[in-house]
Amino acid sequence: MTTDRQVGASVTVRVPAKVNLQLGVGPKRADGYHELATVFHAVSLFDDVRARQAEPGTGISLTISGEGAGELPLDDTNLAWRAVLLLADQAGLPADVELHLHKGIPVAGGMAGGSADAAGALLACESLWQLGIAREELMVLAARLGSDVPFALHGGNAIGTGRGERLLSALARGAFEWVFALAENGLSTPEVYAECDRLRGERQAPAPVVSPEIMQALRAGDPLALGAALSNDLQPAAISLRPVLAQVLEVGEGYGALGAIVSGSGPTCAFLAVDDEQALDIAVGLTSAGVCRTVKRATGAVPGARIIA
Ligand code: C5P
Repeated sequence: MTTDRQVGASVTVRVPAKVNLQLGVGPKRADGYHELATVFHAVSLFDDVRARQAEPGTGISLTISGEGAGELPLDDTNLAWRAVLLLADQAGLPADVELHLHKGIPVAGGMAGGSADAAGALLACESLWQLGIAREELMVLAARLGSDVPFALHGGNAIGTGRGERLLSALARGAFEWVFALAENGLSTPEVYAECDRLRGERQAPAPVVSPEIMQALRAGDPLALGAALSNDLQPAAISLRPVLAQVLEVGEGYGALGAIVSGSGPTCAFLAVDDEQALDIAVGLTSAGVCRTVKRATGAVPGARIIA
C-alpha cells in the first residue's frame, strides 16, 4: 500500500471522557469479562492526541503532558501505543510515529482516559496515513483494544451491551451539567470488577437490562428524572475498596445534586446539577469539604473523537 507519509506531518484528535449513566453488571462470562447493560454519556473533559510522522525506521515514541502524566507508561503497555501498532499492522505499514498525549481526563479515574487515548491514536494515525478505513472497521479495531474504546470514538449518548463494546446510539435532548470529584489515587478496573464478584459471593447476578427511566430522561432532556435514575452496579465495590467515596457522594447530595454516582469503576464521583449555578455550588461545597483532590465541571453530551488540527 502506498500512502503520503511526509515526515513531520501531524494530526491532532480531541477525545472526550465518559460517565456511565447506568452501569448494569451481569454475571462473569467464560472469557473473564462481565456482561453489561450500560448507558454511556460523553462529557467535556478532553484528552488531545497528536500523531506526527517520524523518520522511517524510528518506530513509535510517546510523550505525555497534563495532569497525572507522570503516572502513565511511555512504552508498549500504554493503550495508545498499542492502538498505533494495531493500526499499522492492519494496514501493513511501519509504525514510525511520535505520539503526544495531553491529558485533561483524570488518570485511572473511571472516566475511560486510557480508552480515549487509544481511540485518539487510532483516528489520528488513520488520518495521518490516509488509510480510508470505514468507521465500522475502525470500531472493530477499537473493540479489540478495550471495552470502552468504541464509545470514545462514538461519543454523545449510547447504549453499550456485550462487554460494553457493542453500541447503539441513544436519542437525547438538551445538555446536562456535571461536577466531578477527582480522587488522590486511581482504582484498578479489574480489581473493582473482582471486588464486585467477591461482594456478590454465591449470588448469581441477573442478566442486566437497560433502564427505561434513563432512556426516557435522556429523550426528554430532563435532569431531575435523569438524576433520580442514575445507577452503577460497581459502586458498592468501589466504595468497599475506597470507603471515603461514600462521604464524597454524601457531600454532593448535601449540596442538592440531582444525582450522585461513582463514575464507572471509580474513584471519580459524578454529580448531576440542575443548572450552571448549582453546579458551581456543588463544586465549591466539595472543594471546601476537603473530601477529594480536585473538582472539575463539565457538560454532556459532547461528540466523540474528532480531528481538530
Ligand atoms: O476491556 P478492558 O481492557 O478495558 O477491561 C479492563 C478490565 O476490566 C478487564 O480485564 C476486566 O477485568 C474488567 N472488565 C470486565 N467486564 C467488562 C469490562 C471490563 O470484567 N465488561
